[in-house]
Amino acid sequence: MAKVDRNQEALKIAMAGLVTSVSPWRWVVVGSNNKKYSVCMMAENHYNCQCIDHKKNKHNCKHIKAVVALKAIGA
Ligand SMILES: [Zn+2]
Repeated sequence: MAKVDRNQEALKIAMAGLVTSVSPWRWVVVGSNNKKYSVCMMAENHYNCQCIDHKKNKHNCKHIKAVVALKAIGA
């Protein structure tokens, strides 16, 4: 139960206004440690993030998920 739910975290980030759109394919996401991560859309549904989580695990990290969540709610 203590497992961190990335989707929940991502939604929190999105709702807290921590995602800033820089261009239609680029965002800056403020992470939990106040570090800023640059998220790029490389192709449709294909995102890239600077964080370790994304680089190491090659999945959509919470920053990418936050961007996706924000797009989903039309912001
Ligand atoms: Zn990330």
